[in-house]
Amino acid sequence: MAVVALLLIAFVVQTARTITTGSGALRLVVTGLSAYVASDLISGVVHWAGDTLGDESVPFVGPNFIKPFRIHHVDQLAITRHDLIETNGNNCIVVLGPLAAAFLILPSRDGWFFDACVFMAFLAVFVVATNQFHKWAHQTNPPRIARVLQASGLILTTPHHDRHHAPPHDRHYCITVGWLNPLLDFIGFFRGAEWVITQVRPHWLHAGARVPVRAHPGHPGGSSPAARAPAAPGRSAEIRSPRGARTSCRDRGASVEGGGLTLEGGCRGPSPPLPSSPPRPASRAGGRPPPPRRLELSLPGMPSFDVVSKVDLMELDNALHTAQKELAQRYDFRGTNTVIERTPEGILVRTSDEQRAAATLTVLRERMAKRNLSQRCLDPGDVEAAGGKTVRQLIGIKQGIESETAKKIVKNIKDRKLKVQAQIQGDELRVTGKSRDDLQEAIQLMRAGDFGIDLQFVNFRD
Ligand SMILES: [Zn+2]
Ligand SMILES: [Zn+2]
Repeated sequence: MAVVALLLIAFVVQTARTITTGSGALRLVVTGLSAYVASDLISGVVHWAGDTLGDESVPFVGPNFIKPFRIHHVDQLAITRHDLIETNGNNCIVVLGPLAAAFLILPSRDGWFFDACVFMAFLAVFVVATNQFHKWAHQTNPPRIARVLQASGLILTTPHHDRHHAPPHDRHYCITVGWLNPLLDFIGFFRGAEWVITQVRPHWLHAGARVPVRAHPGHPGGSSPAARAPAAPGRSAEIRSPRGARTSCRDRGASVEGGGLTLEGGCRGPSPPLPSSPPRPASRAGGRPPPPRRLELSLPGMPSFDVVSKVDLMELDNALHTAQKELAQRYDFRGTNTVIERTPEGILVRTSDEQRAAATLTVLRERMAKRNLSQRCLDPGDVEAAGGKTVRQLIGIKQGIESETAKKIVKNIKDRKLKVQAQIQGDELRVTGKSRDDLQEAIQLMRAGDFGIDLQFVNFRD
């Protein structure tokens, strides 16, 4: 880091010596600006690659670059706990070589070659700064300089970056300033890159098959691309579409926390191990619902998937965090010591009075909507007096498919005479069929029907 700083100082001195004219200074500004945009693009490509390609077992790159990106979706705030070295060390190492090379060949005369070297120096600065800007975008209280730069739109802002952190994390990858994000998203830059990868090195894409397909009837944008992908007979692309490949470890973390879903393999490679489970007993006496996911119901070779209704707890926590942040800044909440947090029983709101409890719930609902999280999982309890001038409200989090709803879904599938079998397993469903087309049809049917809860389609098996 010190070496990088020294090199940069040397660059500044040398540049000040070489550039003496007004037009030279103008070219310097243009060079700087183009390096800034280039850094934005690089940050986007590296981030996309980290989110999308390979896994943590890749030598060197895996633990140093892929893992941090994936952890970042699970624990967004970890980055804010990193010190200066942790935040910027890796990028310093990356830029050191090119920066030193640029300095060694830096000519003493003005000209295009000089500009190219200066461009390299600018690029090094911005690449190193990117992690810092990203960190600031996640901080509740970034330093003053960061707030000024954010307010003027010169570096990455929190609302802009939030759009990447909203599921399914497939846009707004650029994290230096994000100027390029609208353009790259508009032209489908990263979707194109994913398509290219599926053509040349499909195994590089990490675990598309287990991506949970979200079904938010109220949010067309919340539905997973995998479900929208056209069914292609005989090809796995219908479920493992290139876009479906964007399983993120955030999903893994959420699911593990949400009750041990088997998405864990999803971050480890294209063929996650299936849970080793005993064969289904021929008959079950007693009528006790089978423990979820412990039984392998599908026949070998029969494609199947599971239907679950789980709340993405990591995303919920992120929504809670931003809600808390907003409440802390709101004038009308000053001095109320309002707290909104997740407890084992649900979401607990503590505040000064009933009115503010209602306002807190509204803020939470807004924050959840922003993250494409359905609010149908919320089950608000009564506001109770909690001693002194405080009240508390417990908001339950509904998880799983209730048996009545599950029966309704099964009946719906039977009525439509689809060539699939749907079986209730605890608070989940397993759908088995001979072909993926049939499964695709079942997914579409379930997405179209409104069963009063949100459904996710997970654990696709061939
Ligand atoms: Zn990401
Ligand atoms: Zn981030």
